[in-house]
Amino acid sequence: MAVKIKKIGVYKVELPLNKSFRVSGGRLLIHKTDSIIISIETDDGIVGWGESAPFGSAYLPAFAGAIVAGLVELGPVLLGENPLCIGQINHLMDLTLAGHPYIKSAIDMACWDILGKYSQQPLYVLLGGRFSENVALAGVISNDTAEKMVANMKVAREKGYRTFSAKIGGNVQKNLELVQSMISELEEDEKLTFDANRSWLPRQAIQVMNAVEDARILFEQPCETLAQCKIVSQSTHCPIILDECIHTFQDLLWAKEEGIAEGINIKIGRVGGITKARKMRDYCVETGLCMNIETTGGSIISGTAAVHLAVATPLRYRLANSDSTELHKVITAKGGYTFEKGNAIPTTAVGMGIEPDKLLLKEPLAIYC
Ligand code: MG
Repeated sequence: MAVKIKKIGVYKVELPLNKSFRVSGGRLLIHKTDSIIISIETDDGIVGWGESAPFGSAYLPAFAGAIVAGLVELGPVLLGENPLCIGQINHLMDLTLAGHPYIKSAIDMACWDILGKYSQQPLYVLLGGRFSENVALAGVISNDTAEKMVANMKVAREKGYRTFSAKIGGNVQKNLELVQSMISELEEDEKLTFDANRSWLPRQAIQVMNAVEDARILFEQPCETLAQCKIVSQSTHCPIILDECIHTFQDLLWAKEEGIAEGINIKIGRVGGITKARKMRDYCVETGLCMNIETTGGSIISGTAAVHLAVATPLRYRLANSDSTELHKVITAKGGYTFEKGNAIPTTAVGMGIEPDKLLLKEPLAIYC
């Protein structure tokens, strides 16, 4: 007998950051993330969990209030559908609501959690297996003065990180100095990504990037659009990782065909869930693109989904997931993965293996049943 979605709960949890976080050369300052957490209950009592948490309202064309509004459209349509048929669930969501991948991501994630619980397997088994015990994480370093960013890289190193994602951008001269300061402090076996978060025009990006001659360095999302990043890629030897401008599979195809990037950053919330992220992951493996696989700004719930997809990906294609959970004051759930010396270690529990903190969830914003 087919399993059916009986009830969908929608919860909102505020995730204040330990410290305000500055990206894109200071253009964006984030104090908190609003996380929308979804529960999906089946008619035989299995509950799956999902989360979507855009990183503030100006980082991507996404914000938490829109998730709640979008679920008004999607919730009633999904009732009675089989959550184990995740391809069909995605198809139905796309027919019902065009675009808005971040809204659909939480639903898709909860369905994968249910599929894991039904099949009695951890999520990574369903996504390809476990290629390693651990998933390397990147220590994220907020945009600041060169002195403070070097100091924060040292703090991250003490926590065990060996890869760092430094948020830069803005003024070219300052960035030239900042980049050299950080590279000079990098240890032999460490890697460093300079993430400009769309801050530069192509000529600015080319100026900064062409001053770097170090194989351990990557640059992420130097400019706003794919077309601008293409101009940069044609005039610099530095490898580029694309992040904010990859929303759809078509974006990825175009980026690959144009030879713009060495790799991409797959944020599960940005691309519409685990199902769509997995398609991108498989394409990257087949065509030789490297990946960061991570959550947009979410807590350990969406972080766990990213860690499972990453651990199910062959090591040679993996870079390092940025660890947004470390930025938050609040821990939304038990389980998922443990943190050890800059690595995430997913548990072997079925599904995503997470148990949200019910006291933190409080009353649902909406129930569809
Ligand atoms: Mg990025």
